[in-house]
Amino acid sequence: MEEGITVNSQMETSLPGIYAAGDVAQVPSALEAKSAVHALWPTAVKSGRIAGTNLAGEKAVYSGSLNMNVTQMFDLTVASMGNFMETDGVETWSDDDTPADQYFRILLKGGVPVGAVLAGSSELAATLGLLQPLIRAKIHVGSHPGKLKSVTAQYLAEHHPAFHRQG
Ligand SMILES: Cc1cc2nc3c(=O)[nH]c(=O)nc-3n(C[C@H](O)[C@H](O)[C@H](O)COP(=O)(O)OP(=O)(O)OC[C@H]3O[C@@H](n4cnc5c(N)ncnc54)[C@H](O)[C@@H]3O)c2cc1C
Repeated sequence: MEEGITVNSQMETSLPGIYAAGDVAQVPSALEAKSAVHALWPTAVKSGRIAGTNLAGEKAVYSGSLNMNVTQMFDLTVASMGNFMETDGVETWSDDDTPADQYFRILLKGGVPVGAVLAGSSELAATLGLLQPLIRAKIHVGSHPGKLKSVTAQYLAEHHPAFHRQG
């Protein structure tokens, strides 16, 4: 059964010229073939922008929503992103940069990160921002040592002109 107003990658509903975005829309997922309702602010902002752009006559395609939850409980931040359940075919990877009193597991499928779950400091939760582009771009990290920050830095240096080394 569908959970929201189904849209294609341009946020157009089954009625031509009628668009939906945000919490009411069942949008393409960054990870799954099936579309999903992710009642999240970033998904609402991005899908709304795509809908508006297409409504205005330009063509824009949504790269897909990635679910993410961050909760603060006293001094502890608990967060998850993407697929964080240890299901069949999923391997877990602990980041060597994580302090001993905090928990951080990255889940991979075939060497490609598909999600993460953590409990620790808010700085640790910010690490999910580093992981997100690797999940979205389906970067194979299986052969890398368990250091998320160095893998991410390498990815940014290779793929984002702003991070290219000078000289
Ligand atoms: C308590 C709470 C905490 C949240 N925390 C987070 C968070 O930490 N991180 C995060 O990413 N997301 C969070 N969210 C989710 C985030 O707020 C929503 O995903 C986002 O606001 C969705 O935007 P939207 O424009 O699709 O819908 P909404 O923000 O719900 O906007 C819909 C608007 O339509 C109006 N409306 C409804 N019916 C009609 C009508 N018939 N005619 C005219 N107007 C109408 C409503 O009044 C409303 O203003 C939280 C949500 C809640 C409720």
